[in-house]
Amino acid sequence: KHAAKIRLDNVKQGQDRDKDKSDRATAELVLDQRTRMILLQMINRGLVSEIHGAISTGKEANVYGAVLYPDNPDADEPIQRAIKIYKTAILVFKDRERYIAGEHRFKAGSDKGNNRKMVKLWAEKEFRNLRRLHAAGIACPEPLMLKLHVLVMEFLGDKRGYAYPRLRDARLAGDDVDDQWHHLYVQLLGIMRRLYQVCNLVHADLSEYNILYHDKQLYIIDVSQSVEHDHPHSLEFLRMDIKNVGDFFRRQGVDTLQDRTIFNFITA
Ligand code: ATP
Ligand code: MN
Repeated sequence: KHAAKIRLDNVKQGQDRDKDKSDRATAELVLDQRTRMILLQMINRGLVSEIHGAISTGKEANVYGAVLYPDNPDADEPIQRAIKIYKTAILVFKDRERYIAGEHRFKAGSDKGNNRKMVKLWAEKEFRNLRRLHAAGIACPEPLMLKLHVLVMEFLGDKRGYAYPRLRDARLAGDDVDDQWHHLYVQLLGIMRRLYQVCNLVHADLSEYNILYHDKQLYIIDVSQSVEHDHPHSLEFLRMDIKNVGDFFRRQGVDTLQDRTIFNFITA
């Protein structure tokens, strides 16, 4: 139960291969023993070599940047990765029960009494949903490994470890910005349809906060709460997603379609 304060930044495989790294601000991670063990295991298994500071600290999870140094550091570039660690000390998971309850995939686990189990389930759900998206060719972080409440995935960002901005923070440039917004809107409707038709999923928390943007491409993230069609509230969640998306793109000046039209387009 005692929280261990560790600097995983200093846990490296072999030599300090990149002097720049030591200049980087070293983020202190406050993690419990169990999480620490999982991270060390992931380092030992060669999924990551180094874990850096938090990209995001949220209510339910923190996301950390990480780097994997290739076997041949002279020939290959380091690979950036992202690690999402779900928080196990939880009250916020309470209102998430309604997503899990009614999901046939997770019936066995909807045990309200057990936080750790709930969080594990939540991470598992994200991992499996990401796999579905990835298999369907929807741009998203490729899920790489899951252990309890710790998920390693592809890093969406540049080679220096800067994450792509959320759509909320994206700054489009050029003399055709209106056109670009229109195209992103159309792109997103296509993604929502594919998510529904091919993955059998409704995102259920879709907004400009859970979409990353880079180079005219939208990336879908944060799918732990996504549900299948047969979830009793799936269509309600879909309507909410459609509304959020419409509101955002209207604020960018896009001439959006009616929510009903989009609903039919996605589900037909
Ligand atoms: P919060 O409680 O803050 O909403 P969350 O549980 O919603 O956290 P995510 O939305 O999955 O977590 O991720 C939080 C942030 O971390 C994202 O907005 C994004 O900036 C960053 N992020 C998540 N996954 C990745 C990734 N694979 N690559 C780069 N950045 C990422
Ligand atoms: Mn999010």
